Amino acid sequence: MNDCLFCKIVQGDIPAEKVFENDNVLAFKDINPQAPVHILVIPKNHYADISVLYNEEAALIVDIFEAVKKVTEKLYIDDSGFRVVVNKGTDAGQLVNHIHFHVLGGRKLEWPPG
Ligand code: AMP
Ligand code: ZN
Repeated sequence: MNDCLFCKIVQGDIPAEKVFENDNVLAFKDINPQAPVHILVIPKNHYADISVLYNEEAALIVDIFEAVKKVTEKLYIDDSGFRVVVNKGTDAGQLVNHIHFHVLGGRKLEWPPG
């Protein structure tokens, strides 16, 4: 049994506010937004974290960044600017072990992040 929260969102077992999808990737609103725009872009297949995306997933990586581009255009943060964040492991505070690309925008973002 797959207990992964984001796999359940992909399967439609848990609701999410989708903003973009194709055969390989899904983008949906973060349930606890840290900025006016906070979207998660995920592969539909399960990958635990960024360390398991290798060369053979090159086409998937292209799809992920195409989704980022589409989402930022659709939500009008492509001109004002945005940040893409991937947390991996304990020090980065990864809570969901299905790789996800945070897309944050709609306000001035601080640097460095906390
Ligand atoms: P991370 O700390 O990088 O693993 O981020 C996990 C993110 O998933 C957090 O920003 C959460 O707010 C978000 N999240 C958790 N559950 C859900 C959900 N059911 N729908 C949308 N986003 C979620
Ligand atoms: Zn998963």
